[in-house]
Amino acid sequence: MTRSHPTIDRSADLMERAAQVTPGGVNSPVRAFRAVGGTPRFIREAKGPWLTDVDGNRYVDLIASWGPMILGHAHPDVMAAVQDAATRGFSFGTPSENEVALAAEIVSRVDPVEQVRLVSSGTEATMSAVRLARGFTGRSTVVKFAGCYHGHVDALLAHAGSGVATFALPDSAGVPASAAGETIVLPYNDVDALEAAFAEHGDEIACLITEASPGNMGVVPPAPGFTEAMRRVTAEHGALLVSDEVMTGFRCSRSGWYGLEGPYDGGAPDLFTFGKVMGGGFPAAAFGGRADIMGHLAPLGPVYQAGTLSGNPIATAAGLATLQGCTSEVYTRLEEVSRTIAEAASSALDVQGVPHVVQWAGSMFSIFFVSEGSRGAETGVVRNYDDARAQDLPAFAAFFHSMLESGVHLPPSAFESWFVGASHDDAAVEVVLDALPDAARAASES
Ligand code: PMP
Repeated sequence: MTRSHPTIDRSADLMERAAQVTPGGVNSPVRAFRAVGGTPRFIREAKGPWLTDVDGNRYVDLIASWGPMILGHAHPDVMAAVQDAATRGFSFGTPSENEVALAAEIVSRVDPVEQVRLVSSGTEATMSAVRLARGFTGRSTVVKFAGCYHGHVDALLAHAGSGVATFALPDSAGVPASAAGETIVLPYNDVDALEAAFAEHGDEIACLITEASPGNMGVVPPAPGFTEAMRRVTAEHGALLVSDEVMTGFRCSRSGWYGLEGPYDGGAPDLFTFGKVMGGGFPAAAFGGRADIMGHLAPLGPVYQAGTLSGNPIATAAGLATLQGCTSEVYTRLEEVSRTIAEAASSALDVQGVPHVVQWAGSMFSIFFVSEGSRGAETGVVRNYDDARAQDLPAFAAFFHSMLESGVHLPPSAFESWFVGASHDDAAVEVVLDALPDAARAASES
């Protein structure tokens, strides 16, 4: 089959202009296509499962804005809620009714969360949760896992996944040794390492923060019992357990990863962070948990945290309409679509003999292009960041570009989940399925 190569002149022009006025031409590093090469597509509009770029090319979207667009782009109910809110003003700087409704919706979905505070990004949510944990415990050390990304918070950037993994940065410059020095980084899914770190530093540790089911080194779910081990060890040492559900929250199930794996023996996490889906594509995020801990926040308590745009009326309207639209049929459709796509991708790669591992968290999945001879390839399981890093990145890049040329926009990194939306109808899924054989061949020839 000969394929016509889509024109991308306007995207190329825009990238050139962008690079003059913005570092690397982008406002979030992974968008620059550095890991896969080539020209990022500048998207002009999006509707349902489709992205349209400035040259008029259409793509089935498997990024979903990195998670939020669970109902698809420009969903009519969310659009109506946003338009209605916008007619009544953009930001008040006072309390408003939708903030109460959104907080109540979150509290009603995730049992252990008694109270939430709304913020504007996942980074703010994790930063504030860590400050609260430190203020509550009077301790300063934070434990995290290699490959988990919690936003670009100084103390949490050490060995982070997501863009930090994509660019193979061990850490970020500009993080003072004092901030990094109070972070202990452990391998994921390793109970012995967890117990050893707490045995040595237990009385200095304010919290252990973990992605509820990591998605920023690719999808690496907790091994059976690992979440409970985190709960047991933190409780034994008087440290809080912070479950970062920014990516998994309201996506893996109506109650996020907690809804799939919880309730846990030994108790729930103390604090949770949310973002992405709960903002419906607008800047809204949250942290929350036990009321006695949340009561340490200003204005009730001594831990300060604030935001000019926190609880923004348009963002809360979009978030609320999105959560209300997340019915059981939506979750069923997400599962169907992602199973169909992942199974077809895996078969296409098998046909071409491309080693790979598929892993799941609800409807989130990723395909690891595991290098031959690596532990992931040998065992069929990617358990942690070291396993995830042993990937054939040129094979992924070839696969990615072939998909893009066939009209499917994957996340431009081998260290990410693929995200679907409930608006991915059979026509969109068909485009993905048709694209897979060529992409698998490209990966095998890379
Ligand atoms: N935590 C997790 C688990 C995330 O996936 C992300 C973003 N990918 C963040 C925190 C940071 O969120 P934001 O980009 O909204 O700051």
